[in-house]
Amino acid sequence: MPLSPTSLPQNYSTEAKQGCDSWHVKTIALATLSLTVLIACQSRQPSNEHTRQLTREDFNRRAAEKFLPFFWREDTNRDDKIQPNELAVLWGYGDSDWSHWITPQQQFTAQFDEAYRAMLEPGPPASNPAEEQRHKLVLDELAQGRPTLVETDLSRETPDTANTIRHLMNAARFIEFIYAKQKGVFGLEGKIPAVDSARRMLLYRNQSPFCEGPRTENNPACSALETKPARIFGLYPAGIQTDPRFCETLAKAPNAPDLMGHFNVVVNGDRTGTFETTPYNEAYKDDMQAVAGELEAAAASLGQDEAAFRAYLLAAAQSFRTNNWEPADRAWVAMSAENSRWYARIAPDEVYYEPCAWKAGFALQLARINPDSLVWRRKLDPLKNEMESALAAMAGPPYKARNVQFKVPDFIDVVLNAGDQRPANGATIGQSLPNWGPVAEAGGRTVAMTNLYGDADSRAQLGIQMSSLFCKATNLKATTGGKESLVGSLLHEAAHNLGPAHEYKVNGKVDTVAFGGPLASMLEELKAQTSSMFLTDWLMMKGFFAPEEVDQINLRNVAWAFGHISRGMYTAEGTPRTYSQLAAIQVGSFMKSGAIVWKSNEVAANGKDSGCLEISFENLPPAIRMCNDFAKVKGAIAERWLRAPRATFVYSLKF
Ligand SMILES: [Zn+2]
Repeated sequence: MPLSPTSLPQNYSTEAKQGCDSWHVKTIALATLSLTVLIACQSRQPSNEHTRQLTREDFNRRAAEKFLPFFWREDTNRDDKIQPNELAVLWGYGDSDWSHWITPQQQFTAQFDEAYRAMLEPGPPASNPAEEQRHKLVLDELAQGRPTLVETDLSRETPDTANTIRHLMNAARFIEFIYAKQKGVFGLEGKIPAVDSARRMLLYRNQSPFCEGPRTENNPACSALETKPARIFGLYPAGIQTDPRFCETLAKAPNAPDLMGHFNVVVNGDRTGTFETTPYNEAYKDDMQAVAGELEAAAASLGQDEAAFRAYLLAAAQSFRTNNWEPADRAWVAMSAENSRWYARIAPDEVYYEPCAWKAGFALQLARINPDSLVWRRKLDPLKNEMESALAAMAGPPYKARNVQFKVPDFIDVVLNAGDQRPANGATIGQSLPNWGPVAEAGGRTVAMTNLYGDADSRAQLGIQMSSLFCKATNLKATTGGKESLVGSLLHEAAHNLGPAHEYKVNGKVDTVAFGGPLASMLEELKAQTSSMFLTDWLMMKGFFAPEEVDQINLRNVAWAFGHISRGMYTAEGTPRTYSQLAAIQVGSFMKSGAIVWKSNEVAANGKDSGCLEISFENLPPAIRMCNDFAKVKGAIAERWLRAPRATFVYSLKF
């Protein structure tokens, strides 16, 4: 007698605790020999083996395909079986209430067991070849994005703080509704049958029905919907969007400045061919009011120690009601790593997601100030003028050491990204905001996201990459932890304030004018990155690091350079990649001075790839110093080249 679906979970979870492998349980469900198998199972050693069917990789892939909010973080005890303490429940879709999946006694719930069983089931059979093909494409689209965990432990927060976070999570949902409306994809999940979990996952992950993976994006059959819809944004009248040049049309209208506004929606005017605008707070009134309410509720449970955070949440709530973003921006820049443990921004900001690049997309980012970066910053701040002198000595005349500011970005550990901050692939790792208005003109605020790629998979991947490239001896110093990259980034950012910077004028010209934008930023980044490595060594002499740590940090910096080189020197559009180019110059210079040697006859640390890179850690510091000649070169080129007047074209037309 087959077990009925309702009776199975009960038996299943009992079995689970007694060590019955769930593949067998599934057999029980299908076969009539249930009793025999059950007995066979029960007679085994209790070992909690029920979850051995899915490897961690399969578990995470299947969970995504089944639209289940699960992530098997890491097989901590290396038993190839998921344990309750290895499961992360994800935000944003499905049932994200942890207590529904894991009991307070740290056991899986019956609901989890049932979901796990569903993950073992194949999807519903396709009714025709076209549907089967579409399903394959959707799976391929999903497979091109590796779920990468950003996990935050809030268990030590006070109930009041937890309450604030919950309200911000609620606000995030409404932010996603608004963003979906901006993109014209709101409510599409209603068009996908509940059983078609992979397509629902695609819609959630991409925040649109469109495929974005390199293998699938151009395939007309790849879509979360039955038929791939046209791309019609909610920000402009649908009728004009079939014209690929509609942005130009709007930009030529008599009221173009209004139509190109960042915080409104373009609608048809009274007369045909004319256009008007509706401000965001009218177009998305209900959702924006809901966000405002959540922000106020989030602010209410913050104490005096978070006065700046509270002030921002209240100002933001007001801006969501009025569509005037300046007061919120002012309160936002007033928040800092010094006066709040938190970082939050809830606002319409970036415009890249929409075809005209005018309308600010709604986004929410919640993060914690990275406490390690703060400690480093405080330790380094008293040394800023000494560091400047050291770099100035290297840059040489005509550059003179300045009295420097130590303005480095706030380093934040992301907790939650929503709306325009949650792209299908990748994430923003640094940002300066706001984009417009007096607060932007006064400099705004810059942050660097420090915890992304700190998850077990990303670290393992980095380890694999490094061991495929470096020789055995070098790879012994390879680390994948957060500290080395944090120090590297912090010193990189600090170095932007030191030595000849953007504002450093040669013959009265700032570098962007002297070199043109891309070259100027490349040289500036080269200076910052090389100085970061130089300062690591310099700080060792000040007792900040042990020699071993310096090697580890600089090895990560070299690995960083290889990561950028691997992306290629130009984007698909043909614009030079700043970091790739500086990385190539740096690595080339290190190789020339013998700090990095290619050993063609040696096998890489992974024991597989032949030929590997050996870093001579003794030769690295002088090589870095030599590479820093570029800082010198930067000044010299500008100064000498610009002695000659530049061409001013004059035109004569003779008839
Ligand atoms: Zn930089």
